[in-house]
Amino acid sequence: MTIYYNPMKCTGCAQEFAFPPLARSYTDLPEAGGRSTIHFSEMLLLPAWCHDCNSASWIERIPSRREFDTAASLRRRANRSGSLGIEDDLLDIEEDDFRWLYHKLSNRKTPPRCLVCASTRFTPIDPNQWQTPIVHDACWDSPIEFQGFPIGSGWHSGRSHVYRFHNAEGDFAWAELWTLNSRMAALYAMLHARRQDPDHATLAAAIDLIINRAIDKALAVLTPLAAAHSAAALGLLGALHYLGQGVQHSGNEAVILLEKAKVLGDACAAHNLASVYATGAPGVAKDIARARQLFAEARAMGGQYERDDFYAQDDFTVANGAFYHPI
Ligand SMILES: [Zn+2]
Ligand SMILES: [Zn+2]
Repeated sequence: MTIYYNPMKCTGCAQEFAFPPLARSYTDLPEAGGRSTIHFSEMLLLPAWCHDCNSASWIERIPSRREFDTAASLRRRANRSGSLGIEDDLLDIEEDDFRWLYHKLSNRKTPPRCLVCASTRFTPIDPNQWQTPIVHDACWDSPIEFQGFPIGSGWHSGRSHVYRFHNAEGDFAWAELWTLNSRMAALYAMLHARRQDPDHATLAAAIDLIINRAIDKALAVLTPLAAAHSAAALGLLGALHYLGQGVQHSGNEAVILLEKAKVLGDACAAHNLASVYATGAPGVAKDIARARQLFAEARAMGGQYERDDFYAQDDFTVANGAFYHPI
């Protein structure tokens, strides 16, 4: 995937506004998983200026039925005659993804929103022009220019990164949080607060804090909830111990918390517990047979977070590139 983090730049004060990372997909919600198949689809994005973020951002591109139909016929012709020389993401995406987008997005009720803050107050940016209609309020309305595509990738530079999944209505569904520790570990866990959870709003805010690297604040929110036996809060704390983010990196602590959450019915915790055994973690040995059993239990609980073929792998760490090597 090509990642753009091309900045926009104020012509007055030279402040730059980077685009947020593009690591996003659509997903069917895991509630539907386990029995049927799950599909992940690429999300088509347009660059925009968000007036609530006051920064460069991305909005979903929701093609009209007509755009879809045109693209469908062009795709059929391109299959026969090769490239048509027309640039459009709708022509480039995989057939499965095209079909998914066609069916799900043509029924969309909600308008496209800023993918950072969910605002509908945005101005699209034409990537073929330096000039934009955007001005910088903070310095006497100096024009903000678009500096151009692309500068390169980088969503997995640094010690951690996040991949976000959205449902077909564009709502944030869950995040995949990765932690990277050079040669010792590349681990990830799912962070998911289900909408039916009575503490959904608080849990969603805590997940937001975690993925925005404010883990201390997230812990202040999660700790009292966990003490009150919130399954999701226990599960999120367990996930942080598995990854070693903001808390002790401890497989043992992770297993204790994730087990508790699983017993209380948290399917996401059941999935993350399986992942602990799939990779191993500090103090916990890799145990593929146990991981397999736990992944099956998680799916039965409605906790499917991977493509169907992932669950049939002999070695899960090969399937997803996650690993843990004790020093
Ligand atoms: Zn400025
Ligand atoms: Zn925004």
